[in-house]
Amino acid sequence: MLDLAIVGGGPAGLTAGLYGTRGGLANVVMYEKGMPGGQITQSSEVENYPGVCKVVSGMELMECWPKQAMRFGLRHEMQEVVRVSRCEDIFLLTLDNGQTQKAKSVIIATGSTPKRAGFEGEEEFFGRGVSTCATCDGFFYKDKEVAVLGGGDTALEEALFLSKIAKRVYLIHRRDKFRAAPSTVQRVKSNPKIEFILNATVKKVYGDQMGVQGVIIQQNGQEIDLKVPGLFVFVGMQVNNEVIKQEDGSFLCEVNRWGEIVVDLRMQTSIPGLFGAGDVRSDASKQVVCAAGDGATAAISAINYLQARGEELKIC
Ligand code: FAD
Ligand code: NAP
Repeated sequence: MLDLAIVGGGPAGLTAGLYGTRGGLANVVMYEKGMPGGQITQSSEVENYPGVCKVVSGMELMECWPKQAMRFGLRHEMQEVVRVSRCEDIFLLTLDNGQTQKAKSVIIATGSTPKRAGFEGEEEFFGRGVSTCATCDGFFYKDKEVAVLGGGDTALEEALFLSKIAKRVYLIHRRDKFRAAPSTVQRVKSNPKIEFILNATVKKVYGDQMGVQGVIIQQNGQEIDLKVPGLFVFVGMQVNNEVIKQEDGSFLCEVNRWGEIVVDLRMQTSIPGLFGAGDVRSDASKQVVCAAGDGATAAISAINYLQARGEELKIC
């Protein structure tokens, strides 16, 4: 039986592994279905990770994290965890190879995935003008014009953020009503740097090897060629919470209305011994540094939990 199982090997999961093993846990496995590193490895430039002065790619930023974590005994298994369920006081992990594994404590660090809108060129130019992270990439559009796609809270809040950097922000939305909170809609409407393009869809982005040069928009049966070097796509986030879905469709622990795992400041979920960290948890700032901090907190909490409860856990 594992002392600690970590599901997900992004910044949150890797940091949890580092702190868990260095903090004295002997039997810790991090399950990561792909290469460790997480979604930041898709980013071509990261310039906001504290202490890393050079602008680095996401791959470069994450290169050393697995090595450092494994130095203290963390084991990585390249497996997808299909489900985490509870059995008496311990947890049962069902893996995609059909095997099961028992663990005394679990950290869910499965992250989230920005949804794609599905227009032509979206994948081709992803990371080269098409972005899903204004905090990360907004600065590249300083004093330039940029477009945002979506009509929810994320799109409108990020449009406001981008308006402080860019010369002009075009907000493209497929309807003329917004899902975003009315107060946010009002702030966007009264921002002179944001221009609405409503009842409009993005047909394609085009450009060259250097990146995006423009966006073709369809509005009222007509095509608009918007010559901007960047398009931010905010059409919803997919919280990777499938792993805590039980066979009857319920969730193992409390989630909020967006499906994010509800945690307290110790990253403790509603189930003792089960922790959430990083983008998958409620109120996450969705940044590498925050995910890493969550992972450290979750691991420290798991150590405390095992020290307090370890011997008396009912094992099925
Ligand atoms: P993730 O990084 O999403 O990692 C989760 C991991 O869990 C993944 O590797 C996934 O394969 C694995 N996983 C999921 N489900 C399972 C399962 N069932 N079994 C096994 N493994 C599983 N943040 C910044 O701070 N600065 C930036 O410049 C920046 N740029 C970004 C650019 C892009 C294009 C994107 C998409 C994001 C960017 N971010 C940036 C945000 C940052 O990447 C995330 O906030 C951070 O990666 C979250 O870390 P995490 O560990 O919570 O989740
Ligand atoms: P969201 O609320 O699901 O909004 C997604 C937006 O993208 C919608 O306007 C939708 O249009 C549009 N869209 C979806 N698919 C599209 C496509 N293929 N092409 C073009 N447009 C498309 O997502 P979100 O803004 O990321 O928010 C997710 C959840 O987090 C929401 O519940 C939100 O309230 C919450 N959130 C809250 C805060 C906050 O409280 N401050 C901040 C951020 C997010 P339609 O409207 O036409 O469907």
